[in-house]
Amino acid sequence: MITVATLSLQKRIFISVGLFVSITLVVVWYVIRPKYEQSVINERTTIVQQIQQYALQTSEEKIQSWVNITRYLAHEAQTHPNELDIAMRQNIALSPSIIQIVITSPPLNDTLTVTNTDYLGFTFLLSDDEWKMHKHDSTTLVQMVYDSLRTMVIVAVKKEFILASKHFFITTFANANEMSESFTKLPIEGRYGSIVRSQQKIIVHNTADFDQIAWEAYPNITSLRTTDAYGKQYIVIASEFSTIPYSSIIVIPASLFLQPVERLFTYSLLFLAGVMVVVMLLGWYVSHQISKPVEQLVHEVEQLSSLDFSKPISAIHLPELSKIGTTIEAMRLILERYQRMNVEKIIFEEWKNKFFLSHSQDMIALTNPDGTFSFMNDAFARLRSELAYTAPVVKRDDLRRHPNISSSKESVRTEQSGTFTVTIHQQELFVKQTHGNHQYLRLHDVSIMKGDEHLGSLLTLHDLTTDRLIEQTKTEMMNVIVHELRTPLNSIIGYASFILEEALTEEEKKEYTTIILESGNHMNTLVNRFLDVQRLESHTVDYPKEQCDLVDIARSVCDSLQPQLTQKKLTLNFSAETNLPTVFAVKDLMREAFLNLLSNAIKYGDEHRTIEVELKKNNTHLQFIVTDFGYGIAAEDQKKLYTKFYRVTSNPKTVGQVGTGLGLAYVKEIMNYHRGDISLESTPEIGCRFTLSIPILHT
Ligand code: ADP
Repeated sequence: MITVATLSLQKRIFISVGLFVSITLVVVWYVIRPKYEQSVINERTTIVQQIQQYALQTSEEKIQSWVNITRYLAHEAQTHPNELDIAMRQNIALSPSIIQIVITSPPLNDTLTVTNTDYLGFTFLLSDDEWKMHKHDSTTLVQMVYDSLRTMVIVAVKKEFILASKHFFITTFANANEMSESFTKLPIEGRYGSIVRSQQKIIVHNTADFDQIAWEAYPNITSLRTTDAYGKQYIVIASEFSTIPYSSIIVIPASLFLQPVERLFTYSLLFLAGVMVVVMLLGWYVSHQISKPVEQLVHEVEQLSSLDFSKPISAIHLPELSKIGTTIEAMRLILERYQRMNVEKIIFEEWKNKFFLSHSQDMIALTNPDGTFSFMNDAFARLRSELAYTAPVVKRDDLRRHPNISSSKESVRTEQSGTFTVTIHQQELFVKQTHGNHQYLRLHDVSIMKGDEHLGSLLTLHDLTTDRLIEQTKTEMMNVIVHELRTPLNSIIGYASFILEEALTEEEKKEYTTIILESGNHMNTLVNRFLDVQRLESHTVDYPKEQCDLVDIARSVCDSLQPQLTQKKLTLNFSAETNLPTVFAVKDLMREAFLNLLSNAIKYGDEHRTIEVELKKNNTHLQFIVTDFGYGIAAEDQKKLYTKFYRVTSNPKTVGQVGTGLGLAYVKEIMNYHRGDISLESTPEIGCRFTLSIPILHT
């Protein structure tokens, strides 16, 4: 539906101008025009009436002068009959309009004619019926008539006089052309009718067209009236001569009077049409001036609505709209900033995700629909280059078909998410590496399908090698414990059977029972030490720490080992820096650590040695150093020295010593518990030098 709101500015201007012009036309045509026409008719009628009155007046004056001459001559004829001829000639000479003067006496059949030489040859056909009595002089008759050739209008004045008892008539013929023209040639443009008539007939007329109207107007017509004839309106202006029974009738078509009105209205219409065209052109120009920047603005705002904030809003060169332009530009700048911030955020998020993925310990790769890799993190890239030695891994499936990879524990799960199908493929891969190592990996292959179309996959490989090794170590550990316990257990069972079954001497019984006891103790030590290590390793027990004077502890441990030292003829040199600080530690565990190191120092070396025990401080740690000058430990054995149940087998001298292989592992765990450290320096010159570093700061 078309409403004002849906119309463009241009159309609104056109419609407004059209309406305004139409209403103006209607008002002018139906309200102003009739009034104006009437006033024009009135005015012009008055003018014509005045012209008619003037013509009447001058005509009457002329007729009166001819009447006067006629009367004078009649009088002269009566008083000076002999001089009549001279008087007649004189009057003709004085009044050039007089054509002829004729004196007749019907019974005598005598005629005296004096003719103006200017009008020789004119004859007049007078009609006896047409003589009209002069209103102020009953003896004078007047007749208005054309000459016989109808070239001239004549006014004839006839007067009767008596001379010597005889009746005479003097008739004066005067040229009334001028008078007639004053009625018939009015200063009116166009066709109109003007006649001079008696009661019986028309004497003069300018054109025959209006005869009928003039006749119709008669006899009632005395003054102004309007009449309709031939489908037209006419204005009839009539006036009577005052001296003779003639009247002047002027018939003018109303349209003639209205010609200027029509012209005026035609010009007004043309002017209005001109105004309309100008206003419309102006309106078009103005609306164009307004709509052009508006259209430009709309176009640019449309760009904003399509989320393209990059193009600045152009300046609008129209003060009324420039504010809108600048406001929208300000909005655009804000939106552009927000968009940029958003894009930056997205890029940042993407970068962050890639960063996470790249630095993930797991191997992660994304594939394209054709299976090629669109992304892989560092860990995956390393695996890929490792595998590339045997066969290239270009696509996703190359991984599972790779000769170095065998798989197990496979499972497949499918989930539907809207129009997408997500397939999660899990399996465990065993990867043989080029340098002989192997890796256990758990593969997660998440593939997305839309219908039959494969969109891509996310491959995640989690390294299970450590877990598998721990499991392996645990199994091995169990085997070691079982193995370690089996020997003393077998001796306990064996010797106990001996005692029960064999007839043994008291001495033998004592000897075997002692072996059983030692084996039991060994088993006990083994189990207890193992549990000690486990407890520390698993952090299941919270040992209370306190301020400890390590010099005191070390000295008391040394004192407690005096019997063993004496037995092996060893010398122990104990030295401690003065004013050593205390440390925040578990006293018993510190004692255990020192005891283990010193026991090993005594055990793993020949007799007659010196063992040096030193306590000193570096910047942050307090150090307990034992140098034993004993058998030492080979470099390859040092690597596994702190592994549970590890015992050096390369050196036959150490193999002979009784031990659990748990001592150093225990010391290592004690140091871990105190955030300290154990280190070993071993050369043939010094044997072994173990250093325990315990942090001084309270922790
Ligand atoms: P064990 O109970 O066997 O002594 P440890 O864990 O204390 O267990 O020691 C592990 C191994 O390290 C020992 O079996 C021994 O071979 C070697 N070892 C430890 N201390 C010394 C040392 N001071 N000199 C030489 N070898 C040592």
